[in-house]
Amino acid sequence: MNLPTARLVPLLLLLACLAAAAFRPPAAAAISRVPTTVPVVALTFDDGPSVPYTGRILDLLLQSHARATFFVVGGEAARYPDVVRRLAHAGMELGLHGLSHRDVRQLGARQAVAQALAERDLLQRLVPGLPVTLFRPPYGAVARGLAPLLARNGLDLVLWDVDTLDWTRPAVAAIVRRVERAVRPGSIVLFHDGGGNRQETVEAVRRLLPWFAARGYRLVTVSQLVEFATPAPAPSSPPPHGSAIFGGER
Ligand SMILES: [Zn+2]
Repeated sequence: MNLPTARLVPLLLLLACLAAAAFRPPAAAAISRVPTTVPVVALTFDDGPSVPYTGRILDLLLQSHARATFFVVGGEAARYPDVVRRLAHAGMELGLHGLSHRDVRQLGARQAVAQALAERDLLQRLVPGLPVTLFRPPYGAVARGLAPLLARNGLDLVLWDVDTLDWTRPAVAAIVRRVERAVRPGSIVLFHDGGGNRQETVEAVRRLLPWFAARGYRLVTVSQLVEFATPAPAPSSPPPHGSAIFGGER
């Protein structure tokens, strides 16, 4: 058999790259940002879905061809299944934020992960086949051993490096200013689309989307952001897998 090797090799390389991306193992420590020089940023929204704020934010993102990640609370997802489906079908990423927003320090790592897996089942019942690979603990509070236990269950522990403090309702301009001052390539920005009146968040997102576009930033999901991680310089001994993408600020 005379295989057209010259044409097969690029195809095989492409397939290998796709497979590597698809089977990236979860990180064994928290991801707060991604080291990269590419102007990519992940906007994230916690505590939803809620009506009407989640839908308003989604409309703005779609108008700007932006993607984002929504760390939903299980109880709220069950209450607003149509919003969850709309987010998923619009290409937004859905992450886990606990069944009922309990503090992981009180639950302990084992119980927190059990509840995260139950929430993953819930989301996948609402949207069959939905990939769910991210967990963000309520309050950003972690328990000992949480990240490795999540990783063994196929979940990354995601925090943030830019906190908008939007839940304190500090005025739209204050939220916008915090983002404009602190964001950099690889940033993960924390907003809230649930848990109260989030009209300030909606307005801040409306103002920030053109700001990002004008500076050449692409807004991507957290899973997309991780793909932009620059490999760390070769260390003297091999690091545990995934360590190149650890922010470690928190
Ligand atoms: Zn929360």
